[in-house]
Amino acid sequence: MIEFNHVEKYYGDFHALKDINLEVDPGETVVLLGPSGSGKSTLIRTINGLEPIQEGHLIVNGFDLADPKTDMNKMRKNVGMVFQHFNLYANKTVLENIMLAPRKVLKMDEAENRAAAEELLRLVGLVDKADKMPSSLSGGQQQRIAIARSLAMKPKALLFDEPTSALDPEMVNDVLNIMKKIAADSEMTMLVVTHEMGFARQVADRVIFMADGEILEDAPTAEFFKHPKEPRAQKFLSQIQ
Ligand code: ATP
Ligand code: MG
Repeated sequence: MIEFNHVEKYYGDFHALKDINLEVDPGETVVLLGPSGSGKSTLIRTINGLEPIQEGHLIVNGFDLADPKTDMNKMRKNVGMVFQHFNLYANKTVLENIMLAPRKVLKMDEAENRAAAEELLRLVGLVDKADKMPSSLSGGQQQRIAIARSLAMKPKALLFDEPTSALDPEMVNDVLNIMKKIAADSEMTMLVVTHEMGFARQVADRVIFMADGEILEDAPTAEFFKHPKEPRAQKFLSQIQ
């Protein structure tokens, strides 16, 4: 589904991703850990083309992102992204937020779109908020709507960049529980940057540990938490848990 092959990424002179080699299979849930500035956001932003790469190959659902002929808009239909700050459309209702992209991009039939959006509201437990404006929702509720909005495009992969780190603690679990439900759907490929170690242990198939723009460790979840091989991963875990 996602394949990095000797990928290099620079911001000007700054070498942000160094020889990244990574394969994520369809249906897999992978958690990306690492200290601040290690390149986690950069890595997941390259996957939907928000950040261009300078060397190597990056294949996402059959699209070669290093190929200038690749139609990025077409590629992005398959890859949803959920950010720390949810950026819902402030002047549209919750339901409209979910229905907008399927209508505009997928040209989905209106009745079908509405039914799908209502189904997604059920999934995230917010059916009663359909006609509300985003500003009247809590941060956790807004993030759940942002997740529903991403799912409305029926992506093959979902990327999450610290989806709970801007939330008040009591709302974190509501969002994580929805992510767990999505991960349990074996079709969805998920790549999640998070500092929620409980979620990582419980939900991830694999853990990737990054530092200084490199992948230092890529291991099955239980193995990573039991015996992190890299000293920097050991130090990171001892500080965060
Ligand atoms: P955090 O945990 O703080 O979110 P991160 O692991 O997501 O960190 P990135 O945001 O990917 O790290 O940043 C990796 C490195 O690239 C950092 O040194 C950062 O300063 C640098 N960087 C990120 N974005 C840019 C940019 N647009 N221009 C220049 N440098 C950047
Ligand atoms: Mg980041």
